[in-house]
Amino acid sequence: MSQALENLLSEDRSFPPSEEFTAQANAQPGIHDVAALDYQAFWQKQALERITWFSEPTEVLDDSNPPFYKWFKDGELNISYNCLDRHLADHGDQVAYHWIGEPGDTRTLTYADLAKEVNRFANGLKSLGLEKGDRVAIYMGMVPELPIAMLACARLGLVHSVVFGGFSSDALSSRILDAEARIVITQDGAWRGGNVVPLKENTDVALQSTPGIEHAIVVRRTDHGADMAEGRDIWWDDLVEGQSDECKAEVLNAEDPLYILYTSGTTGKPKGIVHTQGGYLTGTTTTHSYVFDIKPDSDVYWCAADIGWVTGHSYIVYGPLANRTTGVMYEGAPNYPELDRLWQILDEYGVTVFYTAPTAIRAFMKWGDEHVDKHDLSTLRVIGTVGEPINPEAWMWYHEHIGHGTCPIVDTWWQTETGGIMISPLPGVVATKPGSATVPFPGISADVVDEDGNSVPLGGGGFLTITQPWPSMARTIYGDDQRYVDTYWSRFPGRYFPGDGCKRDEDGYFWLLGRVDDIMLVSGHNIATTEVESALVSHPAVAEAAVVGRKDELTGQAIAAFVTLRSTASGDDSLLEELRDHVASTLGPIAKPRSIVFTDDLPKTRSGKIMRRLLQDISEDRKLGDVTTLANADIVAEIANKAASSTED
Ligand code: ATP
Ligand code: MG
Repeated sequence: MSQALENLLSEDRSFPPSEEFTAQANAQPGIHDVAALDYQAFWQKQALERITWFSEPTEVLDDSNPPFYKWFKDGELNISYNCLDRHLADHGDQVAYHWIGEPGDTRTLTYADLAKEVNRFANGLKSLGLEKGDRVAIYMGMVPELPIAMLACARLGLVHSVVFGGFSSDALSSRILDAEARIVITQDGAWRGGNVVPLKENTDVALQSTPGIEHAIVVRRTDHGADMAEGRDIWWDDLVEGQSDECKAEVLNAEDPLYILYTSGTTGKPKGIVHTQGGYLTGTTTTHSYVFDIKPDSDVYWCAADIGWVTGHSYIVYGPLANRTTGVMYEGAPNYPELDRLWQILDEYGVTVFYTAPTAIRAFMKWGDEHVDKHDLSTLRVIGTVGEPINPEAWMWYHEHIGHGTCPIVDTWWQTETGGIMISPLPGVVATKPGSATVPFPGISADVVDEDGNSVPLGGGGFLTITQPWPSMARTIYGDDQRYVDTYWSRFPGRYFPGDGCKRDEDGYFWLLGRVDDIMLVSGHNIATTEVESALVSHPAVAEAAVVGRKDELTGQAIAAFVTLRSTASGDDSLLEELRDHVASTLGPIAKPRSIVFTDDLPKTRSGKIMRRLLQDISEDRKLGDVTTLANADIVAEIANKAASSTED
């Protein structure tokens, strides 16, 4: 960003917390100020109150070797003990997961059930000779055995590396090799949209190039059969058969690694982000409790992400279980067998807290309100979003149709690398504004800076930075400390740089603008793609939009837009003109798209984020870049055809 960011979008709508909500909220007004007075004391208090330690830490932060910070480094604990054992005496019968299979089968796991399953599987892992510190790759769908496997690893001090079940065999083998895993845990197949994803077959292909793998453990899920390699492959059921349902949780150091998770790969070679036991648990339990206002005795909480992403690690498994939450876990696609599947589940289980992604919300808008409106969602009391900036109109739709106009919306900004939520409203405390993630979480200090690292005054935009360490921060990139330093700590010395652009308004609210590479330079003006997209989505005909800056001799970059319409609208030339004018009148003529292409879908990563890089290739008539992390590769060719035949002025 060579220039200041244009201040285009303005937002006057604001939703203050209701007195009623505040009266019962976990977070109370003033919490940010208290934490800001002494952030280390704030985190120490959380760590001591929320975690059952085998040996309490006496030191909070070791900052002797930045950026390799250590938290609570002489503390001893076990995260699986915190998620399971400590709940059993009084709450063993409480449901940990209501699990719903895609074909309609269900399983209910109480905390006592979960603990037994984890212990049996942990004993099975021990019988294979695995030892503390060994890496275990997990390549599964959303079945109960996935969190069971993770917790069993954590119990023994094994380091898990979950690879999203939608990834290919290539992605799996490269992650297995990078993490130097000794075993892989998978399934015969996973249900998705009525089809079977052949996880075991993919694993077999991956294992041809991963000599370090000694065993594949296979969960039977779809009964589509599996080629079991003699001596190497073991059925899960056979491994746990006859194992004791008692297994002592290892005493681990707070800084012992818990897992490696590869970032989704929107940009460059995947990075194996390393998280540890103590700081990570402190961060995830604290944020989960305050951001979602969790009441362990009464809430039914549903984070509808996949455990293959960090959202699932922190907010389906570790944070919620440590907080003794009752959760819903759904195996399959949100549109299978019908477009109302999620709302039907939500209604049936009386879900009170719901967490999803903007990409899903835009899909719900596109599918039509009727699928939502026919279900009773009145039990909901907090709803959240994560993954991308949420367009203000998508926020409003979420507010009205899912949150029945009263649920606080928590728009949570964070990353794989941060381990937990960093910027988010606290319900009951912070007034929300559609499209803004509002303010940093207590104990987190963020700033928006210019090219030279100088703080940009309120009202301006630039680079988001985090100015002090926090407990759940990544410790390194696995096997590549230098890359960790270069990627996150070199651009602005002494500060963490997440790679995202951000604006702050006059009230000090943060407006995330997506990755800095997604910011355009049009006739000398810096314009965020997000803002033009939000302007397009604010038109009633539009469900979703992606915008890129295409090379242009005259203006440096010209704005090219790709638009998906709501099911009720049809894309003709008059709508095209109307949309261009709509953007011009919302944001100003400088932001008017040069071209608009209507499309049924947009290219997305497997985590559902818009892949602007490919649209830019299309717009600039280039050979397409790497499409291997795309969820819907076909759409790219289709868009390319349409773009070639589209007209512009
Ligand atoms: P990669 O780093 O491999 O390209 P990724 O960044 O998509 O993948 P994640 O760590 O899952 O992988 O995503 C974090 C990123 O998602 C953030 O850096 C930010 O760009 C975006 N993001 C997440 N939550 C929000 C939010 N509430 N508002 C705006 N952007 C968000
Ligand atoms: Mg990233």
